[in-house]
Amino acid sequence: MNISSEQEMMEFGRGFAKKITKPAIIELVGDVGAGKTTFVRGLAEGLGIKEPITSPSFTISKSYALPGGGRLIHYDFYRLPEPGIMVDDLVENLNNNDNIIVIEWGESIKEVLPEKHIKIEIYYTEEGRTVKL
Ligand code: ADP
Ligand code: MG
Repeated sequence: MNISSEQEMMEFGRGFAKKITKPAIIELVGDVGAGKTTFVRGLAEGLGIKEPITSPSFTISKSYALPGGGRLIHYDFYRLPEPGIMVDDLVENLNNNDNIIVIEWGESIKEVLPEKHIKIEIYYTEEGRTVKL
């Protein structure tokens, strides 16, 4: 699917929110600046979260209450090639069926990612971005 602007990526995220049910695990794959966090901003809006979503690249994780209970937890392991104690936090959250988990740069934690998860790949193209499910 072609996504030609930041607004379209947000819209894709909002639409995606309607298609998923808790529990959900989404792995986002794409280079720096591809639009992973932009997708999460749209997703959060679609899930009814009113708080602004900011990138967790410095804090590694950010967590938001979902209107119906449970949490949206957004991870970015880019700066954490050795996730260490964060793995325990991640596993605990992955085991809670009330959560929606989104992971950017999940290479270092792939051993704990359940095989059955949603993977979204975002590529740069001349027209903007291509999203592959
Ligand atoms: P990532 O989390 O993958 O590093 P971000 O979502 O933080 O990327 O940033 C993507 C940047 O690219 C934003 O500044 C956004 O405005 C810009 N952008 C331009 N075109 C697009 C597009 N088609 N889809 C998503 N983001 C886009
Ligand atoms: Mg990001």
